[in-house]
Amino acid sequence: MAGERQPDCLFCKIVSGEVPATVVRETETTVAFRDINPQAPTHVLVIPKVHYPDAATLAAAEPGVAADVLREAGAVADDEKLDSSGYRIVLNTGSGAGQTVFHAHAHVLGGRGLTWPPG
Ligand code: IMP
Repeated sequence: MAGERQPDCLFCKIVSGEVPATVVRETETTVAFRDINPQAPTHVLVIPKVHYPDAATLAAAEPGVAADVLREAGAVADDEKLDSSGYRIVLNTGSGAGQTVFHAHAHVLGGRGLTWPPG
């Protein structure tokens, strides 16, 4: 069923604790943890506990949880004091855009200058 835990999904395993992660925030619906291969001084991933392959699919099925993910991304930026310097929330969608883990997630990147357009 949509949203159900997928046994082979890396991020579902982080939600269950089967795969360790450096968790910085957790709510009833979301987990935020540090990216294993950081691309900026702050690089945190915010994921829904439910499994959907990407952010748009999550938003269509469970808009409240998608809003929780965005709210938590902002809370991470607050915790990491990124507001004054600016930060970026990234939702890679599809392998052509660089998505490698097909469990919805928002990257929160900050702590250095971020150029536009992204690569
Ligand atoms: P994507 O490329 O947008 O799908 O982002 C997936 C992210 O997950 C990448 O930035 C990876 O570095 C990160 N990642 C992969 N495995 C782990 C892990 O075990 N812990 C934390 N981050 C991970």
